[in-house]
Order: sequence, then C-alpha cells, then structure tokens
Amino acid sequence: MKYFVVALLSLIIVAVISLPFAGIGLLLGHNPYIWGLSAVAGQFIIGGLWNTLTNKILRNKIRQTELLEEIERSSKYVILNCAYCSVNNEASIILNQDNKFTCKNCKQRNKVDINYVVSRTTEPVLQNNVIKEIIDKVEKDEDGREK
Ligand SMILES: [Zn+2]
Repeated sequence: MKYFVVALLSLIIVAVISLPFAGIGLLLGHNPYIWGLSAVAGQFIIGGLWNTLTNKILRNKIRQTELLEEIERSSKYVILNCAYCSVNNEASIILNQDNKFTCKNCKQRNKVDINYVVSRTTEPVLQNNVIKEIIDKVEKDEDGREK
C-alpha cells in the first residue's frame, strides 16, 4: 500500500512537471502532447539514472561499512614497543594483513611481525585431580587423628 501511494505520488509529480513543457510546446506552435510526453519520458530516464546512481552509492557505503566492521571485529589492540625508541604504542593488529604502526613518540613507521607460540594448557590447581587426591588424603588423615 505504501509503495502504491509513493508510485501514485511520483506519477502525479511527473505529470505536474510535464504540464509546463506541454504549455511551452503549445506557445511555440508545436504539438503539446509530444512536448508533454517527451517531458514524461525525460523524467523517467533521469529518474532511472538517478536511482541507479544512488543505489550504487548506497551499496558501496554499506559494503564499506561492513568491511570496516569486519576489520574492527578481527583486529586486536596490543601494546608494542617502538623498534626505534622503545616507547610503548597501542597498535591495532589484523591477522591477515601486513601490520604497521607509526610511533607516537618518534613518528617512525614500525612493521609488526607476528610469531605463533605454542604452550601447554594448564588447569586451576584445585581442579587438578592429583592435587584433589592429596587434599582429600590430608583431610582424611586429619579427621583420623582427631578421632
Ligand atoms: Zn618510536
């Protein structure tokens, strides 16, 4: 319903804009219908081009926004020492890109190399079964001593 109203309103606007063209055609002694219909056709062509252009711009903006959001999501802020002056800098790191940052102190460009380090997983002490067994045994011994 909303689109129907918009389309009707657009057609009325096209007709209202075309009327003066028909009048000009009439004043110049030409066929007013040809002038009016040419104005209608011209508005449809210009409208179509305008819609295509604005859609393309809008789509590009959406794509750009999505790309920026994706970069924001995949980036990680780390504190890194400048390779020139050793001052701490907060740098944004993205895994699938060459990462560089400009030092806030000496304004030199730094390149960030990412190294991967593997380590063993660790459990909290109280969840470790060996420690639990020892604690249980000690508690049992203490209970036994009390009795
Ligand atoms: Zn520096």
